[in-house]
Amino acid sequence: MNLLCEIGEAKSVAIAGHIRPDGDCISSTLAVYAYLKCARPDIRCVVFTQDNPPTIFSYLEGYDEMNLTYSPKEKFDVFIALDVSSYDRLGDALWFFEEADKTICVDHHETNPGLADVNEIRPYASSTCEVLYELFEKQFIDKTVAECLFTGIVHDSGVFQYSNMSRRSFEIVGQLVEYGFDGPKIIQDTFYVKSYVQNQILGRALLESILFMDGKCIVSMIDRKMMEFYNVLPKHLEGIVNHLKNTRGVEVAIFMYEMGTQRYKVSMRSNGGVNVATVATVFGGGGHARAAGVEMNGTYYDVINALSREIQKQM
Ligand code: 5GP
Ligand code: MN
Repeated sequence: MNLLCEIGEAKSVAIAGHIRPDGDCISSTLAVYAYLKCARPDIRCVVFTQDNPPTIFSYLEGYDEMNLTYSPKEKFDVFIALDVSSYDRLGDALWFFEEADKTICVDHHETNPGLADVNEIRPYASSTCEVLYELFEKQFIDKTVAECLFTGIVHDSGVFQYSNMSRRSFEIVGQLVEYGFDGPKIIQDTFYVKSYVQNQILGRALLESILFMDGKCIVSMIDRKMMEFYNVLPKHLEGIVNHLKNTRGVEVAIFMYEMGTQRYKVSMRSNGGVNVATVATVFGGGGHARAAGVEMNGTYYDVINALSREIQKQM
């Protein structure tokens, strides 16, 4: 796909990622925003974000311009969906997507069916930001764009740790750091540093985790009472599932938090033996082979039992 050709003569472009935005989502939307400012300053661009983006990303240019309120409703010539693999994950931005004259989707989720009129979905890329780097014309990449792309790759690869990092991903990171931003500071401040209560709740999640299936699976849950006690929001729980997975012998880690009465948000991580995207898809979720998520109804035990049955089929 040639992104600028696909945008063509459009006068207005809406950009959006997914609900409960993560690092790759925030970074990819702001990267496209900054890129179009450079390449097509004549276009009116709006970046939508459904939920308050994590403040750790406030150093990214354009962060303060992200649009949280969706009125007045305006139709856009082009809508660019980034890092989104299903319509429901667009949240309220879905209305703008449906009303746009043309839709474009850039993503790296293998469960993405091709949501838009024009799609660039690369399941082997580490992140949406990596795909964007390949699509961007190099003369329009500046320090701002590079900093966004770097941040997205860092977050979706767990600081270059996961198997989604290919030789090409490392080459791209190498090219990005040439732009002169402070990469180590970004990694430290946005990935490793957590608030005191976040570390406390991480401790609780690890302490109360349970091994099952002969130690091949681990699960932990944070209920609403605990979230209220520590005064944390769902976005503060990101990363806990990765800690669970770093348990020797564990092939699949499951972390969930209570979203509402008998409703859970589930995050799964796998070492590759079990495809957790397949498991998540059974219940209407999605993601990648080694990292996937889904929202499920039922009691905590209903959810574990349902997931276990699907995981067992692959073991
Ligand atoms: P996380 O566990 O970090 O929330 O998400 C892991 C991966 O699964 C991400 O790539 C994310 O986009 C995807 N994912 C998480 N939750 C859902 C969901 O409810 N539906 C779909 N389709 N994908 C999800
Ligand atoms: Mn991503």
